[in-house]
Amino acid sequence: MNKYDAFLIKYAEIGIKGKNRHVFEEALVRQIRIALRPCEGRFAVIRTYGRVFVEAHTDYDFEEVTGALSHVFGIWGICPVAVHELMPIGELRKAAAAFMAEEYPEGKFTFKVKTRRMNKEYPMDSPQISAELGNAVLEACPGLSVDVHTPEHVLNVEIREKIYLYAHVIPGPGGLPVGVGGKCMLLLSGGIDSPVAGYMIAKRGVRIDAVYFNAPPYTSERALQKVIDLAKEISVYTGPIRLHNINFTEIQLYIYEKCPHDELTIIMRRYMMRIAERLAKEAGCLGLITGESIGQVASQTLAALAVTNEVCTLPVFRPLIGFDKEEIIQVSKKIGTFETSILPYEDCCTIFVAKHPVTKPRAEVIRTHEHNLDESIEEMVDRAIAADEIIEVSSSRVVRPEPEQE
Ligand code: ATP
Ligand code: MG
Repeated sequence: MNKYDAFLIKYAEIGIKGKNRHVFEEALVRQIRIALRPCEGRFAVIRTYGRVFVEAHTDYDFEEVTGALSHVFGIWGICPVAVHELMPIGELRKAAAAFMAEEYPEGKFTFKVKTRRMNKEYPMDSPQISAELGNAVLEACPGLSVDVHTPEHVLNVEIREKIYLYAHVIPGPGGLPVGVGGKCMLLLSGGIDSPVAGYMIAKRGVRIDAVYFNAPPYTSERALQKVIDLAKEISVYTGPIRLHNINFTEIQLYIYEKCPHDELTIIMRRYMMRIAERLAKEAGCLGLITGESIGQVASQTLAALAVTNEVCTLPVFRPLIGFDKEEIIQVSKKIGTFETSILPYEDCCTIFVAKHPVTKPRAEVIRTHEHNLDESIEEMVDRAIAADEIIEVSSSRVVRPEPEQE
């Protein structure tokens, strides 16, 4: 049997008072259930007494479960809890002493007992219970001493219809539960930046859909697989992601044929944004997300960003805008996408790049050159959107549509 019967989920309560509270808690419960799906064992996630508990109904793997929970945005801390039936103080003394002896088997440190007695039937008040249990722990654990003001550890005791004991807090990722903030469409390439950008926006409670622009046969099946893998890696945090795989080849070749080559990247980026926005609106997304950062490459100078931006009516969120590459790399290592991102598969942006792309594009000039595309571009965009391959990605599985029969 596992030592802990349940996990008390702690979340930062600032800003979630009143009406928001149940929205926040429901989203948190939903995201916790999704995160626990791949875990061995059966669990109940319940809201009770204004808090969220994960109860284990079978044996489980402690590392697996706490690992899954520590990826759920909105969780500030995870407290493993031992749950007991109500018992007289004599027995509770033994249970508390045994619990602390196991929690902190060695070392010298200070502690205190903090009791909350919600069940007023229990025949002692909170300070009396704390004093009794403090003494019992002191007798059983010779390395411990009491410090009621600045203890290193706290044994929490809650007396309700059962008795709850917990003394550890495993840190969660913070943020807000995914789903409380609506949904956005992430432009997900195979690079380092866009997965980090998606992670950052999801951390603020936003659900993520994603779109990848693919240029077969110039880009390979493995480049697509890399993007699916990245989506899978961030879905550990964001929950399931619906990934739109858009075939961009025809559009790219057409731009290549009709437009000045030093403007290719910028015009291509404008078409990516236009298509992403159409998909976003169809899916009910309230904004787009990119991994752009000022000055990182020619297509991300302020002038280029402005020209790219002008084709969108939805807001475009660029959470990495002020980050250096090194800072972005640090986050990508922390969230576990870096190793996949640096795999050397080509991206559609890199196949037709000009040697000297414009760094100060002017919107009027770009618009004029885009008129060269007037004859066919709308149909091409419609065709690309009609051929959208939707891949459902979650941390435990990837579902791709069956390939069409020739
Ligand atoms: P990343 O590391 O995310 O690939 P990058 O530094 O390579 O970014 P660009 O290639 O200029 O930068 O792309 C800027 C942003 O445009 C990316 O962060 C991503 O949001 C989006 N993007 C670029 N290429 C694609 C693509 N093939 N599919 C989807 N989105 C893309
Ligand atoms: Mg890229």
